[in-house]
Amino acid sequence: MGISYVKRCKKCKRKIYCSSGTGWVSGELLVDTIKQAKEGRKGKVLYEFFREHGNGIIDVEQVSFLCEDCGEISKGYDWTMYIPDKNASDGTDYDPLKDPKYFQESYLEDYDGSRYMEYGCFDYSRFMEDVKKSYRVYSKYPHTCKKCKGKKKIVDIESKMYCPECKVKLDDISSVFWD
Ligand SMILES: [Zn+2]
Ligand SMILES: [Zn+2]
Repeated sequence: MGISYVKRCKKCKRKIYCSSGTGWVSGELLVDTIKQAKEGRKGKVLYEFFREHGNGIIDVEQVSFLCEDCGEISKGYDWTMYIPDKNASDGTDYDPLKDPKYFQESYLEDYDGSRYMEYGCFDYSRFMEDVKKSYRVYSKYPHTCKKCKGKKKIVDIESKMYCPECKVKLDDISSVFWD
């Protein structure tokens, strides 16, 4: 479940695109992000995190950020880091990303009812629900602003947002929902 907004500043006419939430694609996104993070392609923080916690998980939910210093709005991923709760872990070899319970089978049917294509969809919402139960937050990702290097916080895009330049309230000009 996700939502996207296009917001616009009345004064300078700048358009700002923001979104939050994830769709079905996020299973692949999660696997890819973790793989890349382990290879050091997602920066030092995640690289070190996975080096110490090989069975850690990160939240790849799409979020919007607000810079606490300059007010810049940007899009990105949550990247909160989770590690398994000692009491809840039932073995070191368990890899939740391979657990069949998170994969829903989907298929396309031919005219005669026979299946001609099968694929698995990763149920990210269910996965994250479980992660939040049996993992604990290790650390929030320290997001920094590209513009001023200030600290960014995750912002609720349905709340009031302001133009980083003019400081006037942004108008919603369109929104898109997806499952
Ligand atoms: Zn403006
Ligand atoms: Zn900034």
